[in-house]
Amino acid sequence: MNSLSDVTGRESHPYQQCTRCLMDTTASDIVFDEQSFCNYCTNYLKYSSHIIHEKSEQKEARLNALIARIKAAGDGKPYDCIVGVSGGVDSSWTLVEVKRLGLRPLAVHMDNGWNSELAQSNIANLVRSLGIDLYTHVIDWEEYRTLMQAFFDADVIDIELLYDNAMMAVNYQQASKYGLKYILAGTNQATEGMKIPKNWNWFKYDKRNIKSLARKGGLKKLETFPVIGTFGFIWHQFIKKNHWISFLDFLPYNKFDALNELEKKYGYKRYPFKHYESVFTRFYQGYLLPKKFRVDKRKIHLSTLVISGQMSREEALKGLIGIPYPSTEDQEQDIHYFIKKMKWSRKDLEDYLLRPEVSHAAYPTEKPLWSFFESVLSQGMRSRIKKWLSN
Ligand SMILES: [Zn+2]
Repeated sequence: MNSLSDVTGRESHPYQQCTRCLMDTTASDIVFDEQSFCNYCTNYLKYSSHIIHEKSEQKEARLNALIARIKAAGDGKPYDCIVGVSGGVDSSWTLVEVKRLGLRPLAVHMDNGWNSELAQSNIANLVRSLGIDLYTHVIDWEEYRTLMQAFFDADVIDIELLYDNAMMAVNYQQASKYGLKYILAGTNQATEGMKIPKNWNWFKYDKRNIKSLARKGGLKKLETFPVIGTFGFIWHQFIKKNHWISFLDFLPYNKFDALNELEKKYGYKRYPFKHYESVFTRFYQGYLLPKKFRVDKRKIHLSTLVISGQMSREEALKGLIGIPYPSTEDQEQDIHYFIKKMKWSRKDLEDYLLRPEVSHAAYPTEKPLWSFFESVLSQGMRSRIKKWLSN
C-alpha cells in the first residue's frame, strides 16, 4: 500500500508526539513546550477544563438558569427547544437529560442515506420510550451522492462538511418554523472539547464551496439538500437570536456512565468507536482520512478523554494500535459497501487514494467573508458571541 506521507508530502518536520496527550506532528500547527506538552492539551486545560471541573453547585445553578430561560422562551409553543440527534451517545444522552429536566423538545434528525441500522434503531427506541416527537429530514440520495462525488473529484479533505452543514441548516429551519430560540446539541467539552487541527477539516458554513463543487458535479440547483452560509449563520445567530447550546457542558457528563444507562433503560446498542453511527462517517474516519490525508481522528478523541480524566494515557495509547476498525473483515465490509453505494470500482477507490489533496481554498469559498466578519467584530462582541455560544 502507498505511504501517505509520500502522497501528501506533509512530512517536512520530524515526527513528535505529545507526552501528556496523543496529539502529534500530523497536526500542522502543533507546537511543543520544554516538557514536550503540546498546544492542543495545553489550550484545552487552559480554556475548557474549568467547565468539566466546575463545582457541582455552580454547574447546577447555571443549568437551572438555562432551563428557566428555555421554558420561558417556549411558553405557548408546541415545543420549547430543538435537540439534534444522530444516534450517537452524546446527542442521545442530551435527549434523555432534556426530558428528565422537564423540557419539551422536538428531536431533529437528518438522513443522508448513510445511517447505520443500529443508529436508526437507537433513535427510534429512544424517542419512543421518551415520548418525544421526531422530525427526520431526508436528503434525496442521488442528490447527496452527486454532491459527495463532486467533493471526491475535487480531492478536498472535508467530505463531512456536507452532512455538518446540512444538519445545522435543518436545525435552524425547524427552530424558525416553530419560533424556537434554543437548539441543544450533544457537543461538549468533556469528550470533544479539544480543537480540531486546521488541516484536519474545513470551516462548516462554506455554502459557496458546496455550491461551486455541486455545479462542477453537474447539479444546477440543490433540491433537498439544505445549505447554510455565513450570512445564514449571522441571520440566525445574531438577528433571530437563536442560541446553539452545548448542552452537556451544563451537566456532569461521563460518556461511559451515560452509555451504561442508555443500554440499561433505552435498549441502546453501543458503537465500537466515536461517530460510528453513520456508515460513511465510520468509513471516512476509519479509512479515507488516514489513508488519503494521513489524519487519524482517534488521536483527538482519545486525547480529550485523557486530558479530561476519563481515561489513562496508557489505555488511550492502546486505542491507537492497529486500524481504526474492530477487524480487517469489518473494514473490508465497509469498503465493499462504500464502493457499491457510490457506484465506484475498486480501481476508482485506489486512484482516489493516490491523488494528492487539494485545498478547499482552491475552489470558490466564503472563508475570506467568514474571516472578515470574525475580524470586524469588536472584542466586546466576540466575548458576547462566546457567551451566546456557550450558554
Ligand atoms: Zn498534548
